[in-house]
Amino acid sequence: MTFDGFETLAIHAGQEADAETGAVVVPIYQTSTYAQDGVGGLRGGYEYSRTANPTRTALEECLAALESGARGLAFASGMAAEDTLLRTIAGPGGHVIIPGDAYGGTFRLFSKVLERWGLEWDAVDQTDPAAVRRAMRPSTVAVWTESPTNPLLNITDIETMAEIAHDGGALLVVDNTFASPYLQRPLLLGADVVVHSTTKYMGGHSDVVGGALVAADPELGERIAFHQNTMGAVAGPFDAWLTLRGAKTLGVRMDRHCANAEKVVEALSGHPAVREVLYPGLPEHPGHKVAERQMRAFGGMVSFRLRDGEEAALRVCDRARLFTLGESLGGVESLIEHPARMTHASTAGSPLEVPADLVRLSVGIESADDLVADLLAALD
Ligand SMILES: *Cc1c(COP(=O)(O)O)cnc(C)c1O
Repeated sequence: MTFDGFETLAIHAGQEADAETGAVVVPIYQTSTYAQDGVGGLRGGYEYSRTANPTRTALEECLAALESGARGLAFASGMAAEDTLLRTIAGPGGHVIIPGDAYGGTFRLFSKVLERWGLEWDAVDQTDPAAVRRAMRPSTVAVWTESPTNPLLNITDIETMAEIAHDGGALLVVDNTFASPYLQRPLLLGADVVVHSTTKYMGGHSDVVGGALVAADPELGERIAFHQNTMGAVAGPFDAWLTLRGAKTLGVRMDRHCANAEKVVEALSGHPAVREVLYPGLPEHPGHKVAERQMRAFGGMVSFRLRDGEEAALRVCDRARLFTLGESLGGVESLIEHPARMTHASTAGSPLEVPADLVRLSVGIESADDLVADLLAALD
């Protein structure tokens, strides 16, 4: 018999009870190096903690299982994971297609850092597959997709993106941070690599910064592992432990995030101060049908635009009390932010600029009635 349900894997994959002590929870192996029994005589395959550490290994195996991939790798942050992946799969003259509304930090990595090293990129609206197909070049090494996107919550058809990328001999990379593997598993839809900021839903408690890559192909996984060890932006033992602890409850947390988000969407949708609610669970959302097909539910992120423009958006952010004004997302506590001035300030003046009347919510798992009451008070 195999026990391979998602919640079972979250709690058990990579996390056998300790053979020597019986410890049920994987210990924090706070060590940099390992004693050898004679030169090269490694006891558990470990020689130095940049290369591998047992706490990190447990997290990496768990992440691979949750994403249905061959190899998981844990990094010091989501951006460290992205940088490591891009330096593994691309070099000078290589071309990558990124979303028209990519995560601000991803956009900055391409535009301010990797471009200087000769990497070429185009930001394309990926809700339009024909536009992505047109943007493919012989030198395209990857299509980089996010779905849902941050902060506009656009939906990209992952199967179609995989087809387009593979037709052009490129990889499909999916940043699955917003959905988490509980709601969406891109590798099963044809993607080659999944990227995570585990800082968000995976960790889930706003107490650790981390990143991850999961590769479908073990050979690509091995090449990424080589670069992870060579560049060294690894997750430390305590960070890996916190992330692993968070991942155990991912399923139950996501169920509540989604249920609460639906109640918030319902309250915002009829409100006179709100011009538009952006949420893939709404039947009128342009990506609703695709989201229904590729996601288990529609997630805990909600964005909305105010009728009275930027001032009104800033006012709501200021007046919310239970929703904490802050960047980041995916924790148990609810957050509110103004993307144009906060998370996405670096996109100002670029084609990726976000509307100034936009407010983004990370709906937490507090009592839904309290969350709705707080937003209604902030809007009135
Ligand atoms: C936060 C985030 C990242 C970057 O991750 P860090 O852990 O902050 O480095 C990448 N992609 C998305 C979608 C994010 O929300």
